[in-house]
This record gives sequence, structure tokens and C-alpha cells, in this order.
Amino acid sequence: MGNKQNTDYSKRDYYRDKRGKKSNATLFEGTVIPGMINCHSHAFQRAFAGFSEHGSNAKDSFWTWRKTMYKFLAQITHNDVKTIAQHLYIEMLKSGYTRVAEFHYLHHDINGKTYPENCTDNTKRNNPEHKLSAMAQAIFDAAKNSGIGLTILPVLYQYAGFGQQTSNDGQKRFINTTAQFNQLVSDCFELTKQYPNTNLGIAPHSLRAVDKESIVEVVHHVRSLDNNAPIHIHIAEQQQEVDDCITHYSKRPVQWLLDNFDLDEHWCLIHATHINAQEQKGIVASNAIAGICPTTEANLGDGIFPTREFLALNGTFAIGSDSHISVNPVEELRWLEYAQRLITQKRVILSSAGIASVGQNLWHKAALGGAQSTNSNTGVISEGKQADLLILDTQQTSLFANNKHLLDSVIFADQKNMIKDVMVNGQWAVQNYTHANEVNSANNFAKLLARLST
Ligand SMILES: [Zn+2]
Repeated sequence: MGNKQNTDYSKRDYYRDKRGKKSNATLFEGTVIPGMINCHSHAFQRAFAGFSEHGSNAKDSFWTWRKTMYKFLAQITHNDVKTIAQHLYIEMLKSGYTRVAEFHYLHHDINGKTYPENCTDNTKRNNPEHKLSAMAQAIFDAAKNSGIGLTILPVLYQYAGFGQQTSNDGQKRFINTTAQFNQLVSDCFELTKQYPNTNLGIAPHSLRAVDKESIVEVVHHVRSLDNNAPIHIHIAEQQQEVDDCITHYSKRPVQWLLDNFDLDEHWCLIHATHINAQEQKGIVASNAIAGICPTTEANLGDGIFPTREFLALNGTFAIGSDSHISVNPVEELRWLEYAQRLITQKRVILSSAGIASVGQNLWHKAALGGAQSTNSNTGVISEGKQADLLILDTQQTSLFANNKHLLDSVIFADQKNMIKDVMVNGQWAVQNYTHANEVNSANNFAKLLARLST
């Protein structure tokens, strides 16, 4: 492996051993690029993708979508979550994601039953129906069976809206007290020791669903387990959320967060969509990451993150597939650039002084930002880094004679998946476009969808 970070993906066979020699052990067929990190996933929503695209008098919005989503998730059991997540994670691997941050908020059973606060009874611990972390463990199992790297982010969700509004029936499966939540986090921390290539962070859901004191408490707890644990939060996805925050806190959400917490490189602000220039500078100065989910933000009519301005300030970003309306980092990055072209009526927006190719610049920065957002030793091909790698199929026509524009071709001219092989943490997860568990997982997913559709 090269001694320094290699961002020049135009050399098709640069991936050589330390002595610079080609060797059968280390030289792959095709071109090698770093695996992408998916910074934001709600796995169960994959089974709902495409179910909410029927018209209703042009009054559909994020909020009506959310109502439909709540009805849908009322049918999902603990085993269903595992089925959906396993299928989804295999889809992610085949499209180029090698690690996922699971923003995990579906904690309780279908009746919203609160599991025992301190479940120390071993017989109960072996029964998934009686554990605070039963749903989280389904996610760990799915990650293990797929081979993807996992950063589990248990979500603290307490209220229906600003001002500690009482949660509604559709939210009963999400709610925990801070004491329960900290127990869940500790249980998940134990699970990270049992499952390979996993680690822990937390996610206070949003400023509308969690109050300041609770965030302080849960951050303190997770920091006692891992001082570098990532902290993710939904922050400014919808204009209404910003307006409600101003009404309640007299500040915009990102500004309030910056003023009340010492943000640092471990914080990831998901959907910082509606931010002004001062908030942009504040995020960059804090070293926090902007977690952008272009296809979901488009699908839900959220708005457009000011990527051009944010990158001009040297801000760090990561990408996520969020609702999984698309499971494809290529499409996320393509739309990141296209949204800016549509706004500015110009072309080639998200290149940089150091990297003139938009595709190369975006892939490189998103992978590094994703690694930071998951506190994982990956995101770049370099000595001492985890081997999370994608092998591009240079037999695909879009990559013929196109060395200089390789990642531009992948992102903007991709007619079909060009990722032939995928390695996660030194192990092959996908070979020759195939994952060993994909047929079983897809069959189980299809059966589940047939049940949920009736
Ligand atoms: Zn989300």
C-alpha cells in the first residue's frame, strides 16, 4: 500500500505493495478506490421506500410523509428489522458503501412496550423480547451477516415537539428516559465488543425531540465509555423546524446548538439544510461535520444544503442515504453537484483548488468526512488504515480510455454499477458483483414486503 494518502485515482494500478512492486497478493484487477461511508441510515425505512409517492392534492410534505411512515413502522417487528437491515446492508456494499452509521430510533415493540430499565437477568438477556437493546442487536446481526462496518448510534427521542410536547402514539416505539437511554448505550457498547468492525456513538434525535439537559446527560455518559464517540443530531431539515426553534429558543437551531454546546470534530449535524452564513462559519470553526443526504432531502422536499459556500469555507461533509429512497453513493454525489448547478446555472461547481475533478474531489472528501463522522480508521487508501476498498470494473464502457476522468465517469456517466469487488476490513464482502448472502436476503425481504403490502 502506498505510504501517503493517494487521491489520484487516475492510475489504474497504483495499488501496490509497500516496496512498490506488483505482487499477486496486493495487486488487484481493475482500479481501487476507498470505500464510501454512509453517515446516516434509518434501516427500516428501506422497506417503505417508494410507498409514499402517490399524489394527494399537492399537499404532501415531510410532515405528511412522516405520518405515513409512522403507520408503516407500526407493523415492523424485531425480526423484520433484521431482515430489512441485512438486505439493505448488502445493497449498500454492492453500491460502494463499506461502513454505515445507523441512526437507530426504533427501540420498542409494536405496542411501545418499555423494556426493563435495568435488564441484568441473564435469562431475559437471552430473550430478545426483553432487552432494551433487542432492536439494536438486530442491527448488529444484520451488519455481521452482511459484512459491512457498523457505527451504532442509539437515538434519544423524548418529545413530540419544542417545549417538551407529549409524544404521540406514532412515536411510542422511540421514547426512552435518559436513564433507560444510558442503559441502552452501555448495552450497545458491550455489543461492540462482541461484533467485529463495530463502534458506538449516540444521536440525540433533534432539538424538537430532546431538551438541553438530556443532551448534556447522554453526552456525558457516552464520553465516559468512549471519549471519541460520534454525536449525531438532526438539526435543520425543514423550514418549519427552524421557525419553531426561533419561537421556542429565540435562535435558529444550528446557532442555538453552537451557543449551548462545545461542538468539535466528533459532532455530525445531519440535514443542516437551512443555515445562514454565520451558522456555516460556526460549523466550520467548530470542526463539526455536515451530514448531507441529497436524494432523501430531494425526495422529502427539504431544501438544498449550501454546499458551494460550505466547501469554500473548507467545511467537512459526509453523505448518507437516510430514508434509502436511493442506496447508491454515486447518486448522492451526483445530486450534490447537480443541485448546485441548477441553483447557480453554472457547471463544475464542487471542484477545489487542490483537486480539479469534481468526481474525485467529492469522493475523496465524502469518504474522509464519513470516516470522521463514524470515528473509524478508514476513508482513504493509506498505510495503517483499515482496508475498506472498492475495485472498479475497467471493462465497463464508461471507463474505457478515461484514466484522467475516472471518478467523473463513475459519478456522472455511470450507466450501471461499476463496482465489481468490495473489501471491508481486509475481507472480501462482494466478489464479481456478488455477495454470498444476497439471494437469501432478497427472498426474505420480498416475503416481508408482500406481508406489509397486504
Ligand atoms: Zn434521519
